[in-house]
Amino acid sequence: MRHRVTRLDELESLVRLSDSERAGVVGRSPQFSFAATPYYVSLFGGPACPVRRQAIPVRDELVQLHTDLRDPLAEEEHSPVEILSHRYPDRALLYVTHNCPVYCRHCTRQRKVGDAASAPGSSELAAAIDYLHRTPSIRDVLISGGDPLSLSDSRLAAICRQLRAVPSVEILRLCTRNPVTLPQRITSQLVDALRIYHPIYVNTHFNHPRECTPEAALALDRLADAGFAVGNQMVLLRGINDDAATVIELNRWLLRHRCRPYYMFQCDPVGGTAHLRTSIARGLEILDRLRGTFSGLGIPAFAVDLPGGGGKVTLTPDRLVSEHEGRYVFRDHRGREFTYHEPPEVVQAEKFASHDDPR
Ligand code: SF4
Repeated sequence: MRHRVTRLDELESLVRLSDSERAGVVGRSPQFSFAATPYYVSLFGGPACPVRRQAIPVRDELVQLHTDLRDPLAEEEHSPVEILSHRYPDRALLYVTHNCPVYCRHCTRQRKVGDAASAPGSSELAAAIDYLHRTPSIRDVLISGGDPLSLSDSRLAAICRQLRAVPSVEILRLCTRNPVTLPQRITSQLVDALRIYHPIYVNTHFNHPRECTPEAALALDRLADAGFAVGNQMVLLRGINDDAATVIELNRWLLRHRCRPYYMFQCDPVGGTAHLRTSIARGLEILDRLRGTFSGLGIPAFAVDLPGGGGKVTLTPDRLVSEHEGRYVFRDHRGREFTYHEPPEVVQAEKFASHDDPR
C-alpha cells in the first residue's frame, strides 16, 4: 500500500500514457483519487488493456450525464448511524475504511473512497456496533469500505470480534478486491487472525482473465484452505469483459480456485462511468450464452442494483414461450422449443386455488 503509484510523474515513469489518460489523471474529480499498486500496474498492457482501463482515468471520465448519480444506491439515505447502511431487514453494510489498493474507475462509492480524512474512527464503529445490538433482525453484516483489507490484521480481527459479540449476527461477509489488486495481502497471518470468527464469506471482484495470475490464485487458495467461502462479484464493463468468451474464461479459472461466480452486475450509473457502461441487453445476451454452454456452477446471477435504493433485481433471459392449461413451452439456448406438461391434478388444483383467491 505504501508503494502505490498515486502521482502523474510516478505513473509516467512506468507507463507510456495516451493523451486521453494524461487528461483523465490531471482532470479527474479531486474527490476520486487515482492509485494503483505496483503489482496491478505490472499487469498493464497498452491503453486498451482491460486491467489498465479499470485503473487509469481517461478523458471520458470527465463526462457527467444528467442521469448520473453521486450515491446511486442511496446508501446514505439508509444510514441510521454514520458508517452503517441498513436497507434490507436482515443485512447491514459496515464501512470500515475508505482506502483501497487500486481506485477502480467504475467504483460505485467513488464519493467516499480515497478520502483518508473521512476514515471511520473508534467512536463511529462503537455507534455501529451499538445499532447492531439494538437491531436483532440483522443477521448478516457486510464488512466493506473502501477495501477492509487496507486495515491491519489486528484492527480487522478486533472488528470481527466486536461483530461476533452481537448475539443476532450469524454471518460476516468481507468485501475485498485485494485478491485482485494486492494478492500478497492474503497472508497466512491474515487468514489465521480471521478464521476464528467463521463463518466468514469473502466477496471479491475479479473482472477479467488477465487478473488471474499465480499470485491471485495463491490468495484464493489460501482463503479457501482456511475455510472462507469465496464468491466473485464481477461488474460488466464495456470493451473490458462484455463478451461471453471472456466471462467463461474468467469463471472457469475462478472455479478452479474454489471461488464461486456469484453476481455479474450491471455497472451503476455513477458519474464519469458512461464510457465503461454496457447495455442491459448485452448482459442478458452473455447470460443466455453461458446458460447453454457452461456449467451452472459457474453462472452468476445477472443483477441491476436499482438506482435510488430499490435494491437488486436479477434478470434472466426469457425462456418461456407460452403457457396454457398446464402446458408450458420453453425455448432452449439454441432457439429450439420444448414442452413441459403439468399433471392434470396439479392444473385442477391451481384452477380451484385461483377461484378461491379472494383477490
Ligand atoms: S476496491 Fe472496491 S471500493 Fe475500492 S475503488 Fe475498487 S470497487 Fe471501489
